Amino acid sequence: MAIERVAVIGAGVMGAGIAAQIANAGLEVLLLDLVPEDAENRSIVAESALAKMLKEDPAPFMSKGAARRIQAGNIEDDLARLDACDWIIEAVIERLEVKQDLYTKIEKHRKPGSLVSSNTSTLPLARLMDGQPEGLRRDFLITHFFNPPRYMRLLEIVSGPDTRDEATQELMDFADRRLGKGVVVCKDTPGFVANRIGTFWIQAAVTEAIDRGLSVEEADAVMSKYLGFPKTGVFGLMDLVGIDLMPHVDRSLAENLPSDDPYHALRRDLPVVARMIQEGFTGRKGKGGFYRIN
Ligand code: NAD
Repeated sequence: MAIERVAVIGAGVMGAGIAAQIANAGLEVLLLDLVPEDAENRSIVAESALAKMLKEDPAPFMSKGAARRIQAGNIEDDLARLDACDWIIEAVIERLEVKQDLYTKIEKHRKPGSLVSSNTSTLPLARLMDGQPEGLRRDFLITHFFNPPRYMRLLEIVSGPDTRDEATQELMDFADRRLGKGVVVCKDTPGFVANRIGTFWIQAAVTEAIDRGLSVEEADAVMSKYLGFPKTGVFGLMDLVGIDLMPHVDRSLAENLPSDDPYHALRRDLPVVARMIQEGFTGRKGKGGFYRIN
């Protein structure tokens, strides 16, 4: 089945950015989120996410025309519209029971053979699909985008033991040809590949720079010019994606890896990061971060 219409459920940081990237590629996108209590406009969450993206820097959209390809809706009134979608991307909060409950609803409305994927960063596919019907398990994958989706080229794809080979192939081709992604197929292991390795260089950058009294500007300049990290460097990237994500990924690895995994001995505590989060310095979304941008 060719992918022509896509739904993204969850219009937060990632869902909105993923919807924008797919709209940039010329596809129609349905973007759904919750209905806030007492809201007159029941699609206000997804609509506000769209409006916010038009003001963001770096810009999620290539043009205003791309933004017009996204229709905002909500998961109470618009689930029936999933039957027109070829690929449904779940990008809601990182809570297993919320995601599983949503899959049950999606399964009632999607058309047979449509692809369903989760943008989870930490939950294994085996747990997401625990207790789900075989039909869904055959069409289900993890597609792990990185923030910001328009600018981060990597896409990690995880398939399960029941996933159809054609489903994996189709998403790989689409991500490569239409979204310009560099796709890496990963095993269903905690943190997949990027977070498993990336968490070490983040922890090393924070402790080395701070213990040795380097400035974040120096560290970022060296890492981007010498090691080929994005222009933002590691610290700039953390400000962009949210500093609160660091302990979240660390905790998830510590909880999900077996007790004899070397991660437990190699990981480092980051007291400075804990202090920053406590005081609201979570990056661009908070009072500022490693760079005092706000
Ligand atoms: P977020 O908190 O910015 O957004 C989550 C959105 O989901 C919110 O708008 C919320 O209202 C909505 N939501 C919650 N329950 C819902 C439901 N039942 N139906 C519809 N919408 C619902 O979170 P985020 O950072 O965008 O993360 C979303 C997913 O992407 C998570 O699984 C996360 O682990 C993963 N992820 C995040 C990043 C990142 O850098 N933030 C990177 C890669 C993957």
